[in-house]
Amino acid sequence: MPSETPCVDCGELSDKRSERCMPCEYKRRQERTCQVIEDSVRCAGAHKSNNMCGKHYQRFRKHGSPLTNVRDAHRAFVRRAAWMDTDECVIPP
Ligand SMILES: [Zn+2]
Ligand SMILES: [Zn+2]
Repeated sequence: MPSETPCVDCGELSDKRSERCMPCEYKRRQERTCQVIEDSVRCAGAHKSNNMCGKHYQRFRKHGSPLTNVRDAHRAFVRRAAWMDTDECVIPP
């Protein structure tokens, strides 16, 4: 006999093994948004990949971090510069 567990969103009992009932699961998937918190504000962008919206995912791919505040950008720059094998000037962001 399957045990019924209340949905964490609406409290409706369901015999589904997940923590949410079907409608809530579906709704949640539809409402899935970017998980990035920037300047203590949660990004409202539509989810694209890796729990990030398109914008943040691009940044993540490019900089290794979805955040581009100055400190992070600088850290990423230093990390990148350390790996560069060049005699040319490296321009910080
Ligand atoms: Zn529910
Ligand atoms: Zn985002």
